[in-house]
Amino acid sequence: MATGRRQQLVALDQQNSMSGGIGVSHGADPDIQLVTKHKNRMHRVTLGTGSFVTPNREGYGVSMAQLVIREVGPRDGLQNEEPLNVERRAEIISALCRTGLTEIEAVSFVSPKAVPAMAHAADVLELVDRRSEVRLWALVPNVRGAHMAVDANIDALTVTVSACPVYNEKNVRRTIAESVVGIGEIVQVAEGRPVDVVISCVFGSPYTGDEPTGTVPDLMGQLSDLGVTRFTLADTTGMATPHRVERVLHKTGIDVGLHLHDTRGTALVNAMTAVSMGVTRFDTAVGGLGGSPFAQGAGGNLATEDLVHLADDDPMISTGVDLAALLAVAKDLATAVDHDLPSRLANHGPAR
Ligand code: ZN
Repeated sequence: MATGRRQQLVALDQQNSMSGGIGVSHGADPDIQLVTKHKNRMHRVTLGTGSFVTPNREGYGVSMAQLVIREVGPRDGLQNEEPLNVERRAEIISALCRTGLTEIEAVSFVSPKAVPAMAHAADVLELVDRRSEVRLWALVPNVRGAHMAVDANIDALTVTVSACPVYNEKNVRRTIAESVVGIGEIVQVAEGRPVDVVISCVFGSPYTGDEPTGTVPDLMGQLSDLGVTRFTLADTTGMATPHRVERVLHKTGIDVGLHLHDTRGTALVNAMTAVSMGVTRFDTAVGGLGGSPFAQGAGGNLATEDLVHLADDDPMISTGVDLAALLAVAKDLATAVDHDLPSRLANHGPAR
């Protein structure tokens, strides 16, 4: 594992370390150093270049938080729905490309038998009105899927592995070690494209209960050594709370994305807790659709518009996403899937 990456996986051994005062320094190191003080002890966390921090408005050196939202609705949101035709899926993705979003998980190259709603991924990509400023991601389960995604001119790949061995065995019938080997092979096929490993059950597992945080930094280290470029921590069955989010981020560092589910109504408060700690990347789904078809009890994804709405109201947070345009897509999506959406904002509109 690269030393730089190891430095980023700084573990803070204090709870609530952000509460005691904070500063941001830009030294010779190109990475930003976040210095926190708790109980008169100084802690230093290295943020990835380009990260921004808004942990404490009274603190010095605090800058605007620019959130990077990866819209996962066309993949994670639609995979549980009755299959839409190729043209309709491309239309929804193209509309999302015009909302100011810069990252969209558009498709997955999985077995059409297992997930019929995700069939014909290459045909969907062919029809999307792609824009250079929008990076399109595909979820791939294996090398075969990775080859298909690369052939379809995808920009970046997501791959999943679980932090919970039982969940991993049940979900993909592999041990975690076997999944790690498979991800290494996918990185080779990606030929330099970004590969983001989404680690499921980081905040708790439906099978083993509490969060397996101790193993997550090690898993990230192994995968970094194989060429994985970034990580997203997933709350697969909505077990995260702000306290759990803090505990996990203290172990992993904050150069991670979060993929939050709203099963127990905590997704938004978890997201804002993470923002306050300096996390800037989030997976969200327009309309709040989704959840894994294989994870019993998985609720919908955090709704993109709910997060954008909250960010829009805060002068220190920006997303670059046009909320009105996004809500128009949500409305169209409700028609496409032919049922109400779980998103609060899609149902009630923005506060005036
Ligand atoms: Zn999800």
